[in-house]
Amino acid sequence: MRSVIVALIALGVGVASANDDILGFDTEGSAAQRALEARIDAMIDADEMDGWLKLLSETPHHVGSLASKENAEFIAELLTSWGYDTEIEGYQVLLPTPRVREVELVAPTQYSAGLTEDTLAEDPSTSVIDNLLPPYNAFSRDGEVEAELVFVNYGIPEDYEVLERYGIDVTGKIAIAKYGRSWRGIKPKLAGEKGAIGTIIYSDPADDGYGRGDVYPKGPFKNESGVQRGSVMDMPTYPGDVLTPGVGATADARRLRRADAPTITKIPVLPISYRDALPLLSAMDGEVVPDEWRGALPITYHLGPGPARVRMKAEFDWNMVTAYNVIARWRGSEYPDQWVIRGNHHDGWNHGAADPLSGIVAMLAEAKAVAEIAKAGDPPQRTVIYAAWDAEEPGLIGSTEWAEHHADELREHAVAYLNTDGTSRGFMNIGGSHVLERYLNQVTEELDDPLVDMSLKERRRANLLVNGDDKAKSEARDRDDLRIYPLGSGSDYTPFLQHLGIASANLGFGGEASDGSYHTMYDTYEHYTRFRDPGLVYGAELSKVTARATLRLANAPRLPFEFRGLADNVALYVSELEELADSMREETARTNMLIEDGTYAAAMNPGKTLGPPLPKAPVPYFNFAPLKNALARLENAAEAYAAAAESSDVTSEDLNRSLYMSERLLTRDEGLEGREWYKHHIYAPGFYTGYGVKTIPGVREAIEQRDYDKVGPQIDIAADVLDRIAVHVEMLAAGLTGESS
Ligand SMILES: [Zn+2]
Repeated sequence: MRSVIVALIALGVGVASANDDILGFDTEGSAAQRALEARIDAMIDADEMDGWLKLLSETPHHVGSLASKENAEFIAELLTSWGYDTEIEGYQVLLPTPRVREVELVAPTQYSAGLTEDTLAEDPSTSVIDNLLPPYNAFSRDGEVEAELVFVNYGIPEDYEVLERYGIDVTGKIAIAKYGRSWRGIKPKLAGEKGAIGTIIYSDPADDGYGRGDVYPKGPFKNESGVQRGSVMDMPTYPGDVLTPGVGATADARRLRRADAPTITKIPVLPISYRDALPLLSAMDGEVVPDEWRGALPITYHLGPGPARVRMKAEFDWNMVTAYNVIARWRGSEYPDQWVIRGNHHDGWNHGAADPLSGIVAMLAEAKAVAEIAKAGDPPQRTVIYAAWDAEEPGLIGSTEWAEHHADELREHAVAYLNTDGTSRGFMNIGGSHVLERYLNQVTEELDDPLVDMSLKERRRANLLVNGDDKAKSEARDRDDLRIYPLGSGSDYTPFLQHLGIASANLGFGGEASDGSYHTMYDTYEHYTRFRDPGLVYGAELSKVTARATLRLANAPRLPFEFRGLADNVALYVSELEELADSMREETARTNMLIEDGTYAAAMNPGKTLGPPLPKAPVPYFNFAPLKNALARLENAAEAYAAAAESSDVTSEDLNRSLYMSERLLTRDEGLEGREWYKHHIYAPGFYTGYGVKTIPGVREAIEQRDYDKVGPQIDIAADVLDRIAVHVEMLAAGLTGESS
């Protein structure tokens, strides 16, 4: 591996040395911290983690089940036994579980979908199915509908543009969509907006099945009976309990009536397997789908509508259940009022070995080692809180309710939130607030990959240099720190980052294990330990990464927040916005001309029904100057802070408070337009992508949705936000150099 390192140095890439100070520590403090980390590493025990994984994944443990409560109690007992001040905080939340699920082809042929997953002799866990939730999409409304099918591909906005060109309208129809390319909740949301009366979602074997590789149990991919469960709650509007937006779902909380809850779907939706999709799709006719829409079933795919006619019925028990969050604290020895929060959810859709327990057991190993160190005389200087969340799967409910319930304390005391949510094998992926980019890069410079003899950071760089797109390749060559990706949604960091403005990160290994088990009955101990992380070697590595990340935040005399990474990433987003507007303007003008002068129509096959697109309103020029001026100010302030931090040892509790408060300044109380729960103005999940992030979302979504009148005002709002943090960082820099601000 030596030659690789040498080659990277030749490329001008910095390779960290353990002699560099840790960000936020002086030389002596760095040595002490590293000694402590070495002791932690020696305590991480993959065999012990394996034992917990086996135990916690024995039975299905969704929120509201007995096993979920028992798992919470087991986790709480462990944390208590290690010395944490532990409590289980329960919230009363609405949870639909299925009572009736029916999908029936009524014409031109008949077929009644089985809607069940097969038990496998090769995987004993698949026989432990008492209390198993059958495949369903949580927060679908109740309903029974019958209509012709329309095939809508992945059911994302551009798919409906193509259908329009075929003259196909989904009004009054049932949309059948493939899983993938968007968060699942977008599919019924958009289908409903387009007039469909029901949605069926299935996993096509081209995306997740025999088209990818061997299926379970021979290989990891979805077999013909596997169905992805999952929430379809409208989380881009607000996550958490549907009845208590913005407040904790305590027993006495004011609640919406269920009929008024805006995040329950407007039309019924059910997920099915490709075995059940095959007869439905086979019975469809009409135009053959575009090449890119084709799946891997042995049929010709047609758009419809019909003649396949389907009746679907979904009815749920809408019960109030208790979500049990385990909250364990170790009081900080020096700064007890500054809190470092570390979390992973414990509820699963089923056995949940990969999602979420692989992450839970890594967090438990970390928490145990941190406690051992503390008891041996090195307690964390700031308070450390370990949280095991319930009810993440139906909609980030446990974490959201806790964050809403404790919002005032958290706004005041929370330094940062570090999330994991299951883990796998491969490369260290980190997303998060860019004030944390430098510090998290440093953590991954100092740990080696468990199977390849080089640091986690340089291994990830090698992957980007070989497998990245052109932009990723050039950045991996030229930029010392690897970019951490901006967070959209999809796990428990959302309430902390996007609602409360707490700097957050999400960490996990991935990229080298295939997986079709996600949210199926096959997410078992057997599947995980055969295909995802045999021996839990990457799971143990994750414990070491997150232990460092947690304890460096807890112990740093000066918090390792850094603003050049933030400025550099915001600069990237601003340039992307300009490019987006320019490319949309050119593309719109070009397409409109081809439509208007008849060229488009002339190129269409007269034997097909596909027509030209409709012209779109021309894209005006926008004034990005306010945003660019604010960015320039932030860039200068970030440089000034970095220079001051380099040459000064000054630190204080107040300075640290000002450092972690910086992320709050990226939020506005008013929130994003149309979804005020989301307060952060740099990172948000996309309104029409779901988990996928939209950076500088107010501006970006106004452009993408062609809401041109809103672009200017949104640029002004984003510029104000950047100005505010720039002023704050100038003040921090002045504080370090002793200049008055
Ligand atoms: Zn999860």
